[in-house]
Amino acid sequence: MTWVKPYVLVTGAGGFIGHHLVKYLKDQGCWVRGADIKNPEFEATAADDFRLTDLRDIEACHAAVRGVDEVYHLAANMGGIGFITAVRADVVRDNVTMDANMLEAAGQQRVRRFFYASSACVYPKSLQESPDVAPLREEQAIPAEPEDGYGWEKLLAEQMCRYALEEHGLQTRVARFHNVYGPLGTYEGGREKAPAALCRKIALARDGDEIEVWGDGLQTRSFLSVDECVEGIWRITQSDHDRPLNLGTDRMVTVRQLAEMIIGISGKKLSLRFDPSKPQGVRGRNSDNARLRQVLGWEPRVPLEEGLAKTYRWVLEQSRKAEQRIWDAKEWIA
Ligand code: NAD
Repeated sequence: MTWVKPYVLVTGAGGFIGHHLVKYLKDQGCWVRGADIKNPEFEATAADDFRLTDLRDIEACHAAVRGVDEVYHLAANMGGIGFITAVRADVVRDNVTMDANMLEAAGQQRVRRFFYASSACVYPKSLQESPDVAPLREEQAIPAEPEDGYGWEKLLAEQMCRYALEEHGLQTRVARFHNVYGPLGTYEGGREKAPAALCRKIALARDGDEIEVWGDGLQTRSFLSVDECVEGIWRITQSDHDRPLNLGTDRMVTVRQLAEMIIGISGKKLSLRFDPSKPQGVRGRNSDNARLRQVLGWEPRVPLEEGLAKTYRWVLEQSRKAEQRIWDAKEWIA
């Protein structure tokens, strides 16, 4: 059989995971169109065609999907726990609109595959009340009690993918990401996630400083490097498995341990100050990877220390560049 170069669309291609996914798909030999309401922040896109477009508009979705074989739908209005706790109405409105539009456009234009980026936030809060939580299995998402706002949107979109598959024959694939981190992600401004926020605070600190950590530091999570996230997306999309799959690691650490690891990488002498009044999300969360292993014969393996070192180096470089820009501006004013 001859291999035919796939034409693919990545929505959210101006964002963190979407930008990395564009590069990965190019490396796989795909022709890639990116679509986003903004350009990638930190480097130019590798996409063959990049469209600045608002996917809340159905016509924009039809135009973006035209001529492609596969759709990777990652566009979302989202951020870290502080952001999704505070902003629920706009997040749900924007994301449900985009999810419905993208499924409609992909279904009508009969694309071969439709990938949807879901989240571990779909899992019931009652299963995540203790730091030493049992890893979450795919079938536990229902009966539903997801993260308020954002989690409901993700769970609804998962169901919409299933209905499109069962009633319209659209080949949907769904992954539930567990805390993706890595270089070229938002690290300041209010939408950043814990690993990037901690890297920034530590990068900016001097020996002897105290670093603020949200919560009491005992809350647990598992973390997935963005390189393995995009490889997982590709593998899941090409697989025959049409039900949601966890995409994460099953190494659970406390947020305190996460902060200590980054301090260790930085080589600085810093202490931690915990602020339990800040949002911390569920108490404990981990990914059960049994089904992922069974379906793909693969699971993420990059050690957290290795991925964090790469992320820290990148955030440090960005912070130094920002500091330099401030100095340059001061000299210019003086
Ligand atoms: P991101 O915010 O960096 O990327 C999302 C992109 O969607 C942004 O570039 C944004 O501009 C774009 N977007 C928002 N509204 C749009 C609109 N109206 N029209 C067009 N584009 C629009 O986030 P990310 O971390 O790269 O996440 C990608 C996907 O993965 C999202 O669906 C997110 O919910 C999901 N996810 C991410 C994580 C994680 O840890 N990063 C975890 C679980 C799920």
